[in-house]
Amino acid sequence: MAYRITLLPGDGIGPEILAVTVDVLKVIAPPFDLEFVFQEALIGGAAIDATGEPLPAETLEKCRNSDAVLLAAIGGYKWDNLPRHQRPETGLLGLRAGLGLFANLRPATILPQLIDASTLKKEVVEGVDIMVVRELTGGIYFGQPKGIFETETGEKRGVNTMAYTESEIDRIAKVAFEIAQKRSGKLCSVDKANVLDVSQLWRDQVIKMSANYPDVELSHLYVDNAAMQLVRAPKQFDTIVTGNLFGDILSDAAAMLTGSIGMLPSASLGESNPGVFEPVHGSAPDIAGQDKANPLAQVLSAAMMLRYAFDQPEAASKIEDAVQEALNQGYRTGDIMSEGMKLVGCRAMGDVLLKILA
Ligand code: NAD
Repeated sequence: MAYRITLLPGDGIGPEILAVTVDVLKVIAPPFDLEFVFQEALIGGAAIDATGEPLPAETLEKCRNSDAVLLAAIGGYKWDNLPRHQRPETGLLGLRAGLGLFANLRPATILPQLIDASTLKKEVVEGVDIMVVRELTGGIYFGQPKGIFETETGEKRGVNTMAYTESEIDRIAKVAFEIAQKRSGKLCSVDKANVLDVSQLWRDQVIKMSANYPDVELSHLYVDNAAMQLVRAPKQFDTIVTGNLFGDILSDAAAMLTGSIGMLPSASLGESNPGVFEPVHGSAPDIAGQDKANPLAQVLSAAMMLRYAFDQPEAASKIEDAVQEALNQGYRTGDIMSEGMKLVGCRAMGDVLLKILA
């Protein structure tokens, strides 16, 4: 099977971690009868420098014409003071909008080797394996009306609108049920249906959708309780589905159960366009170009691509197992270093993975 992958190295540590990931993909392809055709494109600060725009039309076109997009990271001090439409982040938002990526998948998995990186007690986080499915293009971040208006008394009033249509809820619910099916078959929908009408509709639609997935056990939590449960007893969760605002907050909270930003992958999926697979962390300009970056979040993002875009779960697991094995062998980049472990750079961590995979 041949797949076209658009590579977006972006800025900062982006090119370093993506180079390692491409090498891993090249090694994983033959044993699984896969063929990857890579094409590179510009985004973020690198694109601004070359073309004046953070998301050149050519980049979006290349992404649309591929089977998946592997993005590293964008941004850096150099571009921080440009006007908003020319900022690297605008490129990222444009990419999400241009590909209609409405589902954001953020796994939070505790790796036994890094359990001490968590700020929570070992017995609380041991074995945590959660997938947060966040709606990404609707809800209060996009609802109309929005803005700061003046009232009759001359006082200012800030307004945002939380709104979801039935079809917006249905499509994210469908993604979440299908993911729960591929995982342990448990889905928890998070809302605020005791107070918000939009949440009541959310809950009604998710319940309706559940009729199509009799093998998935559906539960519901109010968002305040979900936040408490996430830090009290995170092991009760498998897949969580929620709207844009609640998902923004809960996915970061869930991610931090693991304690290590250099290890967290993510995926953003649309209906028919290719998905974008990227690490959760940014471009880390403080360590860029020094061969100090942890490439594992990017490598694990490629594993998500294999699982969710190409339906190649065995190849995905092989990469995830190799990451575990590298950690078992004691290799650590600076961000996850602890006493008695072997400190390696970005490139050397990649070489360890290649050796394990070979
Ligand atoms: P950051 O994630 O880049 O860095 C935060 C800290 O974590 C830094 O100390 C950094 O060195 C460290 N870190 C991050 N990733 C690491 C890795 N793989 N290996 C080792 N250490 C790592 O966040 P920031 O400093 O807030 O932002 C820096 C730039 O990245 C900004 O321009 C910001 O806008 C951008 N950013 C981009 C994305 C994205 O591309 N999706 C996400 C967040 C931030």
